[in-house]
Amino acid sequence: MSKVEKVDITKTTHIEHTADGVIMVTNLDLAVNWARKNSLWYLLFATACCGIELMQTGGPRADLDRFGVVFRNSPRQSDFIIVAGTITYKMAERVRRLYDQLADPKYVLSMGSCSNTGGLFQHSYSVLKGVDKIVPVDVYVAGCPPRPEALTHAILKLREKVGREPYFKNYVGTRFFKFMRWIKNDN
Ligand code: SF4
Repeated sequence: MSKVEKVDITKTTHIEHTADGVIMVTNLDLAVNWARKNSLWYLLFATACCGIELMQTGGPRADLDRFGVVFRNSPRQSDFIIVAGTITYKMAERVRRLYDQLADPKYVLSMGSCSNTGGLFQHSYSVLKGVDKIVPVDVYVAGCPPRPEALTHAILKLREKVGREPYFKNYVGTRFFKFMRWIKNDN
């Protein structure tokens, strides 16, 4: 007789041990999101002093790699952008372009007071008063500059958000299910 084990992750995953091997039945969103949230890649990008803390967070002490969070040099291979530093109006157009070039689904993490609100320079004629004026922000990190621990915490919050997303409903939609029906009918 086979043994049935309930795995307490979301109460929707079952693992069955049979004579021929292990069968796992789970929610498709859960399985895909498990992979997505454990391989979040961010764009290597910074505009001011918060960038130094960002570099420190990628170093051996904070060690973002342990969460599968690594940097990429191309927005087309990145899942999210960390806006680290002051954004001037001149730079805002470039930030928006990089955001548009990110692969879908994409996320934005606003790091530090300058990115959140303009920070120390919010009364300057040339500084954007918050990056959320030009791109949608998923997670804000307070501080000037935020410590690596704060940025790590924000990334963990982003992972939680990715893990909860109805990925197939939002990004794949009915096209995937139509495709599966087409395969079933034609083969
Ligand atoms: S928030 Fe502070 S540390 Fe970060 S870019 Fe602005 S002035 Fe520099």
